[in-house]
Amino acid sequence: MHAEIISIGDELANGQRLDTNSQWLSQQLGDLGLRVLFHTTVGDDLQSNIDVFRVAAGRADIVICTGGLGPTADDLTREAMSEAFHRPLEMDEASLKHIEQLFAFRKRPMPERNRVQALFPSGSQVIPNPHGSAPGIDLRVAGSERDSRFFALPGVPAEMREMFLGTIVDRLRIEHGIGQKRLFYKSIKLFGIGESDVEVRLPDLIRRDRKPQVGITVSRATITLRIATEASSLEESQQRMESTVREIYDSLGDLIFGEGEIELEDAVIQWLQKRNERLVVVEIGPESVVSRSLMIADANMDHRIAGGLLFRDRAQVVDFLARWPWETLNDDSIRIECDPSFQDSRKEEWRSLAVAARKIHSADWVLLLGNYPERAEVQSSKGIPIASLVVGLLSPENELTLRTFELGAHPDVLYHRLAKTALDQLRRKVRDGKISS
Ligand code: AMP
Ligand code: MG
Repeated sequence: MHAEIISIGDELANGQRLDTNSQWLSQQLGDLGLRVLFHTTVGDDLQSNIDVFRVAAGRADIVICTGGLGPTADDLTREAMSEAFHRPLEMDEASLKHIEQLFAFRKRPMPERNRVQALFPSGSQVIPNPHGSAPGIDLRVAGSERDSRFFALPGVPAEMREMFLGTIVDRLRIEHGIGQKRLFYKSIKLFGIGESDVEVRLPDLIRRDRKPQVGITVSRATITLRIATEASSLEESQQRMESTVREIYDSLGDLIFGEGEIELEDAVIQWLQKRNERLVVVEIGPESVVSRSLMIADANMDHRIAGGLLFRDRAQVVDFLARWPWETLNDDSIRIECDPSFQDSRKEEWRSLAVAARKIHSADWVLLLGNYPERAEVQSSKGIPIASLVVGLLSPENELTLRTFELGAHPDVLYHRLAKTALDQLRRKVRDGKISS
């Protein structure tokens, strides 16, 4: 059994208003274990509505439409249902009374046009609308291929939700046995690998006929694997997902930074919290790509971010370091580990900066990042922009690692990728670091 959602309205089809009803209804139906296979959006045009209704009746068992139930000439849902399925419109006296009462209660005369809101295709049932003038329509349609059931609701999101939860859920449960089982999801989040690499490592994972199903999405360079399973309880869903979860952890290992809604910056802060250590962030560049997200992630923690230093460019760094006595910054106890990728001759300058930052904010860790290009430069580049990024990490054990990354991405994603690359280096180091006493 599966469902289709139809959104009706010119303002939706032409993009002036975002169709939020379809998203909400799909989530609700998913929670009831009913899969939604189609979203259709159609403008306020009678013949198009008729066509769309007939198509839906041929391919979905449950159809939920929203919009077009108002009293004005552009509200065509009633008429389109009536014509699509050859059911003449009939007046429902109880609904008419409800609409009349609503106007009396609001102390306004009822316009004649509102009478159409009490018209129903013959054989349909009313879906009460406690807080609005448009009742919904519940119509069973017998087809040669399948029988389908149409629920038409007003477009106003608040009324639509109330009517769905107040009436439709019960009808789906009782009359179609839907909702015995619901869909449970588990998200596993990873960074540092492309979508297709995930598929290479786990070729069977994304198979459509696999149970439980796993979906893969990418947002701002973070990959989410979303496992979905039908079950009647959380425990049952966990059992069903167990072997899939294990398979994912076995083959992706430490690329995984967490589950659920977690972001990389949260993972970093959580590790610092666990180890009772603090971080100072130093950013050299026009965007300060990690400071904001780290501060937000830190807001509900015990101030794991000790502070930060921001520099627009290298000239500001040189200026800043010149104000410190040379001996205080030239700390020989700090070992510098340069990755072969780090070709910058200024490793002592990076070290001085790390030392100064740690002294100012008395932190355990220092994250330094810089050397990436200006946004204007990125946006004007042809093809996929490539940026280099230097990431420095000073550990509580006085080891400073310096590494350069060459990263490419669409201009809108590039700075997220830079930020996450730095955060992921830090996450791995903090996680693996020695526990300081
Ligand atoms: P209607 O029931 O077509 O008269 O729509 C009433 C109001 O609900 C209008 O302001 C619409 O823009 C809004 N609306 C209708 N359909 C949707 C939808 N799918 N998502 C969000 N808002 C909607
Ligand atoms: Mg409308």
